[in-house]
Amino acid sequence: MSTLRFHAIKETLNRKPLHIEENERRSAIFGSNVFNEATMRQYLTKVAYKSVMDAIQNGTKIERVVADHISTGMKEWAISKGATHYTHWFQPLTGATAEKHDAFFETIGDGLAIEKFGGDQLVQQEPDASSFPNGGIRNTFEARGYTAWDPTSPAFIYGTTLCIPTVFVAYTGEALDYKTPLLRALQAVDNAAVAVCKYFDKNVKKVNASLGWEQEYFLIDSALAASRPDIVLTGRTMLGHSPAKGQQLDDHYFGSIPSRALAYMRDLETECMLLGIPVKTRHNEVAPNQFELAPIYDEANLAVDHNSLLMDVMDKVADRHNFKVLFHEKPFAGVNGSGKHNNWSLSTDTGVNLLGPGKTPMSNLQFLTFFINTIKAVNDNEELLRAAIASASNDHRLGANEAPPAIISVFIGSQLTSVLNELENVTTGKLSPEEKTDLKLNVVGKIPDVLLDNTDRNRTSPFAFTGNKFEFRAVGSKANCASAMTVLNAIVAKQLIDFKAEVDMLIEKKDMKKDDAVFNVLREYIKKSKNILFEGNGYGDAWHKEAKKRGLSNNKTTPEALKAKVSKKAISLFEDLGIMNKIESEARYEIEMEEYVLRIQIEGRVLGDIARNHIVPTAVKYQNVLIENVKGLKEIYGTGFKKHAKEQMVLIEEISEHIESINSNVTKLINARKTANTISDIEKKALDYCHKVKPIFDDIRYHCDKLELLVDDELWPLTKYRELLFTK
Ligand code: ADP
Ligand code: MG
Repeated sequence: MSTLRFHAIKETLNRKPLHIEENERRSAIFGSNVFNEATMRQYLTKVAYKSVMDAIQNGTKIERVVADHISTGMKEWAISKGATHYTHWFQPLTGATAEKHDAFFETIGDGLAIEKFGGDQLVQQEPDASSFPNGGIRNTFEARGYTAWDPTSPAFIYGTTLCIPTVFVAYTGEALDYKTPLLRALQAVDNAAVAVCKYFDKNVKKVNASLGWEQEYFLIDSALAASRPDIVLTGRTMLGHSPAKGQQLDDHYFGSIPSRALAYMRDLETECMLLGIPVKTRHNEVAPNQFELAPIYDEANLAVDHNSLLMDVMDKVADRHNFKVLFHEKPFAGVNGSGKHNNWSLSTDTGVNLLGPGKTPMSNLQFLTFFINTIKAVNDNEELLRAAIASASNDHRLGANEAPPAIISVFIGSQLTSVLNELENVTTGKLSPEEKTDLKLNVVGKIPDVLLDNTDRNRTSPFAFTGNKFEFRAVGSKANCASAMTVLNAIVAKQLIDFKAEVDMLIEKKDMKKDDAVFNVLREYIKKSKNILFEGNGYGDAWHKEAKKRGLSNNKTTPEALKAKVSKKAISLFEDLGIMNKIESEARYEIEMEEYVLRIQIEGRVLGDIARNHIVPTAVKYQNVLIENVKGLKEIYGTGFKKHAKEQMVLIEEISEHIESINSNVTKLINARKTANTISDIEKKALDYCHKVKPIFDDIRYHCDKLELLVDDELWPLTKYRELLFTK
């Protein structure tokens, strides 16, 4: 009997849901481990409090002396909550979060000690970060990296550690993390959007990008997960025959949540409440053992931090419940994978959602301005947006007939389509008073009613308008949202800057009224953005053909998709907006290509090992059983044995054929890797891994999965799909 697998299964049989107490209302504990506004008022001097609020709201610098006051208040608060350590918490380009804990404790001589946390420690640290990916930045400049406090994301206590969200940059200023370019992109979109808002409302001083992510994940029993080397090392199953029952009955989606999973969710949600992550929604997803969780949306930088923190908390809470969380985009073949929808909008400090239709024609013209500019931004930068969500694991999802395809398109619904069609016919040049009245009454003025009825949702679209926000659905479940959010906000910023320049030009040079100029520019944008609008089925073959005709990109794999990040256009876009210089863009490209290679390389090794060391020996063992059986039959029946041993002998041959195919393919795989590894150019190397190495995975898997169906279940060493997916 295959011990590990059956041992693991046995362990799961005794699992009970943990008892979770929720004694207090969630609203009462919300944010109690966060150094938020209320806590700051209590623990900081007036000057210190004002200084932090100023930094948050207006981006002003915090004076060194004041930083000392802030750190003291923070320390007092943290210690009162049981914290013993502090850490700068940051998001290096590994995708995970990083932290290095230091104790508050410090000796002061004479055998005495105190708890200390000065402004210096709050504001800046220099982690020994030489092992984080840097794409050659630090080598080139021989510079060290440092972390610097981001006051716009509040400090929080996790466990017994005070965590201070920080950026991570090289001494020469280049960003080494996800947060820095995101903050710069958010600043860019703020500036650009405020300038455009001034056409409609002079009082607007700040525009915030908002993000509401929806996180999909699988929950697998920890013992079962640990019994699979592929899950442990790659986060996904690299082989395994599909179970007799998968998701075809649709009986999991929105079904009642299994009790162990529910206990996990309640425990997790309590942790989220303490950390100020406003989680609100939980439900079963389409695949068995797949779930989703979503918060109330927040300012984008904070929401990104919350999502990164959440993934970490999810792992930790899962330990208590004997679960392993799979964030991989495609942990199981044959059932749905996981994504992370990024709901995005822009809102003003005057409380207006710029992608929400308003009550007056004027506010609706503002809505249309931001709506159409976003569409134009996506139209002009679809390839870059695709690149923003590229990863080895997300490749399994995009284009795999379950998730949005690798083609970026925008869905807006039939009613808004007809609004755009009307606007497309606006007169060129100055509008007559009659036309303007007509537009205001019958087109622009009608939008709120229109949207209320606009309930058709196209689930196959990667970028859909959903009434008061856009939903970017192609983001991977494992991804750091910052990647998608940096690009989206950057391209919209750039677009708004161009828009403002064009409108101003018409006002100044063509003597147009503001409204006329806005209508004129929007009309041209609608014409130019037609290609990106698609209302049909994004999964269908017809769309692939149509998209090709329209000239939209269809970069199916990561190495192909990532190139858009270092196109001339992308580099100057980021440079012009002050988001990333050329070195930073190129470094990121290199890091991501390198990561792609490493992921495929690891997968190749794992698959080769499992195939040769687990599957083949098992098949041989079973084949020997059959051989013994045939020999025995021969002994009993003599020459007539074949009549009784026929099926066994067929099986023996089939097994041999599969073993042979596995072995030859593993050898082929190893050789393909060797060849790829000799290539020094990272682009060529990644392409080689993509097109020469990775396809062999499928051949190996095919034969292993066939053997799974032939070999005695008692001997099979790998926990099967039905066990992984249906153990609750
Ligand atoms: P679904 O897309 O699953 O039907 P909803 O449309 O109700 O669900 O909302 C999905 C997510 O959109 C929620 O997490 C919510 O917080 C977020 N959301 C709602 N409004 C905004 C907004 N203005 N900006 C960003 N996210 C938003
Ligand atoms: Mg959604």
